Amino acid sequence: MPENQVLVEIKDLHTYFFLAEGVVRAVDGVDLVIKRRQTLGVVGESGCGKSITSLSLLRLIPPPGRITQGEILYYKPSAGDNGSVDVINITALNPNGREIRDIRGNQISMVFQEPMTAMSPVRTVGQQIIEAIMLHQKVNKAEARKRAIEMLARVKMPKPERTIDDYPFQLSGGMRQRAVIAMALSCHPHLLIADEPTTALDVTTEAQILDLMRSLQNELGMAIMYITHNLGVVAEMAEEVAVMYLGKVVEQTDVKTIFLEPLHPYTQGLLSSIPRLDESIMRGEKRRRLQMIKGMVPDPYTRLKGCPFHPRCPKVIGDVCDQVEPASIWVRPGHMVRCHLYAEAVKSGPAPSH
Ligand code: SF4
Repeated sequence: MPENQVLVEIKDLHTYFFLAEGVVRAVDGVDLVIKRRQTLGVVGESGCGKSITSLSLLRLIPPPGRITQGEILYYKPSAGDNGSVDVINITALNPNGREIRDIRGNQISMVFQEPMTAMSPVRTVGQQIIEAIMLHQKVNKAEARKRAIEMLARVKMPKPERTIDDYPFQLSGGMRQRAVIAMALSCHPHLLIADEPTTALDVTTEAQILDLMRSLQNELGMAIMYITHNLGVVAEMAEEVAVMYLGKVVEQTDVKTIFLEPLHPYTQGLLSSIPRLDESIMRGEKRRRLQMIKGMVPDPYTRLKGCPFHPRCPKVIGDVCDQVEPASIWVRPGHMVRCHLYAEAVKSGPAPSH
């Protein structure tokens, strides 16, 4: 099977929330590609639409939100994994129907930031994992329990034969997140969506969970959509990176390029605002001060004319950026940026590499 086969393709996705106070354009024209067996890091500040994009993918948008435009194509690998795929338009499915329920938690599953919200506090870890297994696989309870213990052992849960009968509140934060990962992976999904899965954990536990996810990805051959605001985690986990701002992907490329040649002023701002043990510091040169991105993300009801980043952009072009919305520009195959600064450099953009 080719490594770069597309697993999920999101095209011009719009997910809006229609509230009494106005319309929140949480996702406002997102294009993304997730390839099989790869990790796509999705980064950006709070409120930029990362989580709503992933919830749209699972058709879990609660009212008054809904997908208003665009499509999400899932290239479902065939049962024999012989390279052929069934193309499923997820946006066309009934959000409560059998087809999406078969995909959700089975072929595409999710790990949330706070494990206590993902697990019921009144049911044991085992009851919840066994239920997930029996929902999607034709096995009896004894077999499901055996598989649940195996999965807990795989996520390196101490004494899995005993922990399976513990309640979530009896476990530490790191163990709870391992239990949630075991539940998410119990049906061997093709895609795992990890939404800030380590934010609530201390750094040592975070490093263990990241290690665990990487080794399980290699073992199970799944793709990961890793949502985070932490560029350090992206550097460690992702092969591809999409940077989001106000409901749009403003830059997407491979992880090395995003750190060495960031093009979008927002990406550059994010990178300047994190401490880096980069070459200049290693060489003992004068330390630089951390830069902040000036201003705040605008309130969610505001729709800015032109580039949504223009009020905060240090490179804003007068009379252009506040008037005309930049289109996606492929500066080279595999590197997309939405910014007027690069419009002249590429008269006719090369095709995306996928
Ligand atoms: Fe800045 Fe203009 Fe580029 Fe937007 S389009 S990021 S305002 S230079």
